[in-house]
Amino acid sequence: MKYSAPRGTVDILPDASGKWEKLERILRTIASNYHVKEMRTPIFEHTELFNRAVGDTTDVVTKEMYTFEDKKGRSITLRPEGTAGIARAYVENKMYALPEKLTKVFYMGPMFRYERPQSGRQRQFHQFGVEMLGVESPYVDVECMMMAITVVKALGLENVTLHINSLGDEESRDAYRKALQDHFRPVLSDLCEDCNARFEKNPLRILDCKVDAKHEAMKTAPKTIDYLSESAKAHFDKVCALLDDLEVDYVIDTNLVRGLDYYSHTVFEIISDDPKLGAGATVGGGGRYNGLVEEIGGPATPGVGFAFGLERLMIALNDNEDDDEGIDAYIMPLGEEARDLGMQISAVLRANGFSVDMDYAGRGFKGQFKSADRFKATYSLLLGEDEVKGEYVNIRDNKTKEQEQVPFEDIVSYLEKGLGL
Ligand code: AMP
Repeated sequence: MKYSAPRGTVDILPDASGKWEKLERILRTIASNYHVKEMRTPIFEHTELFNRAVGDTTDVVTKEMYTFEDKKGRSITLRPEGTAGIARAYVENKMYALPEKLTKVFYMGPMFRYERPQSGRQRQFHQFGVEMLGVESPYVDVECMMMAITVVKALGLENVTLHINSLGDEESRDAYRKALQDHFRPVLSDLCEDCNARFEKNPLRILDCKVDAKHEAMKTAPKTIDYLSESAKAHFDKVCALLDDLEVDYVIDTNLVRGLDYYSHTVFEIISDDPKLGAGATVGGGGRYNGLVEEIGGPATPGVGFAFGLERLMIALNDNEDDDEGIDAYIMPLGEEARDLGMQISAVLRANGFSVDMDYAGRGFKGQFKSADRFKATYSLLLGEDEVKGEYVNIRDNKTKEQEQVPFEDIVSYLEKGLGL
């Protein structure tokens, strides 16, 4: 039997991991600059959490979740997104009672959605997400957007635009919901079965239907922004004013509603026109979700956040740089006695902080030199019969090709000097 990775999943091989690490490092540095700490929540949660938090009329919940029963018959779901788990943990760990009112956290890790795999879309993919909970203020919305923009800039992504919109507060959403129902009622029989179900339960979700996307009524649908209450409008105006002051380019995109139910007020997406991603691909998005924490049983707590898909960032990252820094030393023994000694030397070198590898395959020098090249070793440490007897190694500087005999006890200081440590 031959095994292959499940459809929609990929192996990240050692050659690619340097680029992943680099991306993760950049994201962690930005998080630290924004004073945002990491939070790690489980990769699976009770299914009910996602039904509640993400919303049981969304595509994610109705079509894309990996759900199974565990051995005790509990319904478990592999997380399709990160916000629900963070909100659950926030409530369960009573983080709302912390002396600092605003909690700022990030997460980074795999998410699971049963979607049709294509470029930049997988069934297991990775997200970097940020959540800011506890303070209802347009300043925090803008803090989130600024952080998302910082990510895009730090990665040197080109052709990206910040799209923003407001879904308003509850009052605005009620008015909008009614307007949407009035708009779609006359054409309901043209729309798909899902849309008909959404009509009563959550008409907003009709707008992200993939089946009816081209229907005329979609284009003429009312806009959230025309139904904002006074306070929701004031919130959105302040967000825009702050972005203007910070000289951030953005587009008010009245069609932007986001695919998850928990959003209110500000929503935003970072859309790329990079042809590698396919025009108009979203690299990241987020928004405010003031009702979410209460919805899952916590005290009323405002929140705002965003998530980036790491695969899409990787594709967009125009970076053909070789991130492999190579190793400091490659030990090249000939014969068993030399190998025994090589083990001792590598242990000492590693204990002194050098990155070291060694030939274990018992090959001749020719093959070993090839490895030293492939590993980008700064130095090769040759250990033949003469060296073992004389208790020294021949250290070859792989750049200058110069070679020098160095007694065992001087290897550490020789390398320290050579590497400028
Ligand atoms: P969402 O949670 O749907 O707002 O998605 C946030 C970001 O995650 C998107 O903008 C994508 O970059 C990424 N993303 C969502 N679904 C997938 C997927 N199936 N494969 C790869 N990336 C994804």
